[in-house]
Amino acid sequence: MKWFTLKIFDLRFWLFAPLVFAFVMGCSAQDNEKFNGRRAQMVERQIKARGVTDKATLEACLKVPRHRFVLPQYINSAYSDSPLPIEEGQTISQPYIVAFMTEALNLKRTDKVLEIGTGSGYQAAILAEICDSVFTIEIFPKLGNKAIELFAELGYKNIFVKIGDGYQGWPEHAPFDAIIVTCAPSKIPEPLKAQLAEGGRMIIPVDELYGQSLVLLEKRKGELRQKKVLPVRFVPMIDEKGKEY
Ligand code: SAH
Repeated sequence: MKWFTLKIFDLRFWLFAPLVFAFVMGCSAQDNEKFNGRRAQMVERQIKARGVTDKATLEACLKVPRHRFVLPQYINSAYSDSPLPIEEGQTISQPYIVAFMTEALNLKRTDKVLEIGTGSGYQAAILAEICDSVFTIEIFPKLGNKAIELFAELGYKNIFVKIGDGYQGWPEHAPFDAIIVTCAPSKIPEPLKAQLAEGGRMIIPVDELYGQSLVLLEKRKGELRQKKVLPVRFVPMIDEKGKEY
């Protein structure tokens, strides 16, 4: 069929190319509008409605395109009020939990943050909107590499990804003004406590016999004060052999 053999020197190509271009651009603009609307609703109904008030956190949640961080088959659920499966049997956290943990860290523009459990990269992107730099560690190379590509595509230049076991932290870049852990160990890793700066805060889910709680720690004069802030359910923190910490 002639129509399938259009060449660039064929007049028909120049007639149709702008139409195809306009159609594709039109569809993606419509998609963006749809997702912007859903994201604004997510912030209002799931995050603000449950009491998150920190301006920087709310602005970051309004800006980061969560639908880019989920698997294609879940794109229409990207802004729903729940965690979603990602590769390697892991999950992207519920939007409210991401916002709650971010707010709890009380971040400043100049802060350097460590995240354990890059996963989809969504939490790291939220942090990168708010503070100076984000160092994030992921144990599954497939997830870590995918996040690296997505950060580059979205233009994040202040997120640094390491593939490996985050239990040990990232001593070369310590101390950190804030540490966020998005997988649950049964005890708070000592190296992470040591890598928290004076005046710094850490938020971490800890798996106890009767369930997990988010624990918020603060380092004052070298001493750590801690309190439980919310019951949660995160994937376990594992070592390189897959054994749970
Ligand atoms: N912050 C992520 C949530 C991912 S779930 C997001 O926004 O999508 C937690 C992640 O922690 C998983 O990807 C899991 O592979 C990773 N993980 C588990 N144990 C780890 C460890 N010891 N070091 C680094 N990452 C780990």
